[in-house]
Amino acid sequence: STEWALAQRPVGLPQQSDFEKKTVEIADPGPGEIQVQNSWMSVDPYMRGRMYDRESYVPPFGIGETMTGGAVGRVTASNNPDFQVGDLVQSMNGWRTAWVGDPATAMAVKLPGDTGLPDSAFLGVAGMPGLTAYAGILRVAELKEGDTVFVSGAAGAVGSTVVQIAKIKNCTVIGSAGGPDKCAFVKSLGADHVIDYKEAKGFDGLVAALREAAPKGIDVYFDNVGGDHLTAAIEVARPMARFAECGMIAQYNETGTPVGPHNIIQVVGKQLKIQGFIVSTHADMQPAFLADMAKWIAAGQMKFQETVMEGIDKAPDAFIGLFSGANTGKMLVKLG
Ligand code: NDP
Repeated sequence: STEWALAQRPVGLPQQSDFEKKTVEIADPGPGEIQVQNSWMSVDPYMRGRMYDRESYVPPFGIGETMTGGAVGRVTASNNPDFQVGDLVQSMNGWRTAWVGDPATAMAVKLPGDTGLPDSAFLGVAGMPGLTAYAGILRVAELKEGDTVFVSGAAGAVGSTVVQIAKIKNCTVIGSAGGPDKCAFVKSLGADHVIDYKEAKGFDGLVAALREAAPKGIDVYFDNVGGDHLTAAIEVARPMARFAECGMIAQYNETGTPVGPHNIIQVVGKQLKIQGFIVSTHADMQPAFLADMAKWIAAGQMKFQETVMEGIDKAPDAFIGLFSGANTGKMLVKLG
């Protein structure tokens, strides 16, 4: 197996030299074990958090140890009665082309073979980012029909799904993304208004663009970005607005002390509800999520785009590319 380990902890934007490629011999499966050839692996912004040596909701990656993350592959040998050769499995043993081990340790689950979805979809719209969007907008943000919803990172895996769920629920949607191509993509998903944040530039520009798109303010903010986006959303929030704090990617490579929203006092007067969330806390929504997704995809109401980098060698590039917006929709690495 060709695998990627963390060579050193990145400072600021991760560099290729922060990663180390390894070749690992894959043995035959021992008792209860399975052997899997990965066909897809995911790179996700949260992995940047695991590169810091600090306590978080997931432990840090170890230096010199193969990193982990979402992957999909096929069973090539099995000593486990629950898995047959040829089964499609999702696991947390990404950042490698193949693996052998205990399926429980790898968090391996068998995927249904009859969904009509491409295998890669289980790392995106029908997987963790999809559930993040679903739980975040429906439960955490308590979406109601007719809401005016602002979504940042709207051309990404989570954001593009949030935009479409909000449209399915008859909301007015404003999406922000970087650059004209991404904004056109967000518009094609049904967003009523798009803001190119690279054009709008900073707090004042975002507030002006938001006031134009939503003269009466916003009821919901789905935050993927943090920073100026969050500050601008507080500024244009209506009383009792709800904020689902999903991520703050603008801050993940920060080396100094990040600046907080200067207008945070408005949280009091406007009685804003600002709630962070972690997708795994909402695992109970998985059955409803999959049922709704299947229905929406079949009805053509849920489109999903992927940006695919080819080959395990490209995994660090794919990951680093998340921070310059190299992806439209889900960023994936195709293996083998
Ligand atoms: P995306 O597919 O959205 O990829 C990341 C995108 O972020 C890029 O394409 C880029 O788009 C944008 N971006 C990068 N840097 C900046 C910046 N400085 N300012 C503004 N935008 C930036 O990733 P995901 O959909 O996987 O994740 C989206 C967010 O959701 C992240 O914050 C992530 O951490 C979070 N998340 C949270 C989870 C949870 O459980 N809470 C679970 C999964 C994801 P552009 O070109 O438009 O700038």
